[in-house]
Amino acid sequence: MHVPNSRLAQTLLALSLITTPLIAQTADTAPYKNPATPTPQRVADLLARMTLEEKVSMLAGSGWMESTGVPRLGIPEIKMADGPMGIRLWTGSSAVTSVEGQVHTCSSTAVPAGIDIAASWDPALAQEEGRAIGEEVASVGRDMILGPTVNIQRTPLWGRNFESYGEDPYLAGRLAVGYITGVQSQGVIPSVKHFVVNNEEFERHRIDVAVDERTLHEIYFPAFEAAIRDGHVWAVMSSYNKVNGTYAAQSPLLEQELYNDNHFTGFVLSDWGSTYSTAPTVNAGMDIEMPGGQPMVKWLARPATHEAGNDSGYLTPEKVLPLARSGEIPAANIDRNVSRILTVLFESGQFDHPHASGTPIDTPAQRAVTRKAADEGMVLLKNESGVLPLDTAKLHSIAVIGPNAATARIGGGGSGLVYAKDVVSPLDGIRTRAGSVKVNYALGVGMPGENPAQDTREARKELLDEAVAAAKSSDVALVFAGYSWKFETEGKDRPNMDLPAGQDELIQAVAAANPKTIVILNNGDPVDLTRWIDNVPALLDSWYPGEEAGNAVADLLFGDVNPSGKLPFTFIRRLEDSPSSANYPGTNLRVNYAEGIYVGYRYFDKHPNIVPLYPFGYGLSYTTFAYSELKAPKKFPTSGQAEVHVTVRNTGSRKGAEIVELYIGDPHASIDRPVRELKAFSRVELAPGESKVVTLTIDRRALSFWSPAQRAWLAEPGQFTLAVGPSSRSLPLITNFTLEK
Ligand code: BGC
Repeated sequence: MHVPNSRLAQTLLALSLITTPLIAQTADTAPYKNPATPTPQRVADLLARMTLEEKVSMLAGSGWMESTGVPRLGIPEIKMADGPMGIRLWTGSSAVTSVEGQVHTCSSTAVPAGIDIAASWDPALAQEEGRAIGEEVASVGRDMILGPTVNIQRTPLWGRNFESYGEDPYLAGRLAVGYITGVQSQGVIPSVKHFVVNNEEFERHRIDVAVDERTLHEIYFPAFEAAIRDGHVWAVMSSYNKVNGTYAAQSPLLEQELYNDNHFTGFVLSDWGSTYSTAPTVNAGMDIEMPGGQPMVKWLARPATHEAGNDSGYLTPEKVLPLARSGEIPAANIDRNVSRILTVLFESGQFDHPHASGTPIDTPAQRAVTRKAADEGMVLLKNESGVLPLDTAKLHSIAVIGPNAATARIGGGGSGLVYAKDVVSPLDGIRTRAGSVKVNYALGVGMPGENPAQDTREARKELLDEAVAAAKSSDVALVFAGYSWKFETEGKDRPNMDLPAGQDELIQAVAAANPKTIVILNNGDPVDLTRWIDNVPALLDSWYPGEEAGNAVADLLFGDVNPSGKLPFTFIRRLEDSPSSANYPGTNLRVNYAEGIYVGYRYFDKHPNIVPLYPFGYGLSYTTFAYSELKAPKKFPTSGQAEVHVTVRNTGSRKGAEIVELYIGDPHASIDRPVRELKAFSRVELAPGESKVVTLTIDRRALSFWSPAQRAWLAEPGQFTLAVGPSSRSLPLITNFTLEK
């Protein structure tokens, strides 16, 4: 049901009047219990049967991962599972919290990180992944997954960049819609998070983001907007930070942007401990405070780990009821918030068919989706002299080196980290695939802090010598470098773009020992590669590829799968190049988004003197593609939609997939606009020699900018440029079209 909010409120009011006499009816025949009754009527009927106390009880959680139900009326609690890259930890009752060190592990399927899915540029894949996650959530008897994360990559240092979908709002929105529709197809509630401008972990409970309205609309809102308008998402999670002086959980943006402007009909839940008031929060339209009940009390009582500003417990009945009775929280607001929760309970089917645990998880089918996602997401950034793919017929030995080789780094840290049952490490994946080719393994350098015995000077020298010896005695050397979940994690930003200690030296030494050195990285954002990138012939970015890491990386290295991923962010050379570097992490707990809309490639296109190492949208393949015959209407159609056609041909000798990117520029705009912006893309699979006509559709919104004065999207008449190609910096086909008055 997608009824505009104001209409929903009116309908509910009208229906509650009609249904009032039915309150005396026996519960079993009550209209709200009948699945055939339209949702607004069910909600109104149920609401009319609830006492104020029952309504208020639903505004706060009942546990670490549960909302509050009302057993008298058969209203179930919503049992949540942390995400977004699979189910983290909680199954069964979540009466205990991680704080007590007694977490429930459920060994669920660890899918690749959000950044990996973003790099696939494949919303259909995101949907498959969402479906697999939804299935699994339902099969462990939970009802909701806390994902997807759609916050934009503003700084390369944000600890959660790996979880999210990169720097472009359009790309992030398309992938979010895929994930959401997949999860919801299983009757499971996703929660798109964190609304809004949660783009750094630094002081996340207290930081105040100063950001202008246009930037919010053009950069930071669109993924949420797509989730609501196109994904019809059932829940949104608010963020920890303040936005322009007000905490997100009590910001007017909830009502204005989500409900009024985008007609959201689901509910908002708080991030864990991100509420800071009672009446302002309820009145702002923040519907469920999480966590709640005993776990929340215990959590807040943490003596040593309590973070400054971290809070919760404002929406408990003890706090809300007196304000509801005094009118400080109007009854209509409580009804509105509870109605939103009830609407989702009915719409998701959860009210009628509670999820029961018991069906198997981590099934072969789920693993297959995970592997496919990892395959599609990895990005080949460098491949000189055809060093890749590896050919077992021509190799006698392979050196597999690095702290990320024998240990699979499946995900970043924090609430997104999944404890998978059966993880394939790169070393195991390569051994399996290499067959009779000898694999010489050497650690090379320990991951700092994992084994103190490896961190001493002597141990380091010994490990490095072993790695060099392995590289020298092998035909090729594969170095698996990058981070672990402790280095790239929720709760803290990276201090800089450097690889963990000793890894640059390891790569340099191995590259000096073997000219065929291939580096494979685990990371969620740009890393400083400048110390060695010119000395290695190949670089594959494998992100955090989930539990099938080793098999997927072998798929690509040996050419069983042709790389097709493209960068979802600009791979800068050094931190100073980042548009946000002058305004990060902020001063006096305030961060000014002074770069405005010039985030990522929008900034680099405006400042062509700052050359990124690899541009947004870039990625190589083992084959080549040619673009021709760009066909676009000369005048933008009055229907408000234009179809653009382009022919793409596989000019190489391997089958492969190409991501076709379309950018729009508005050089004659009355205001300053980016040189070009991504407005459509499509993934096309081609056999050697095959050509296909790819159709890309753009609508009027693709031509528009947000006008704060008019509070509207404006497309100004005039000539626009339309460019198509394989990356934001390689656009071989360009044309113009006119938008008439
Ligand atoms: C994170 C959320 C997460 C929640 C529950 C918070 O700290 O920011 O993304 O879903 O915890 O674990």
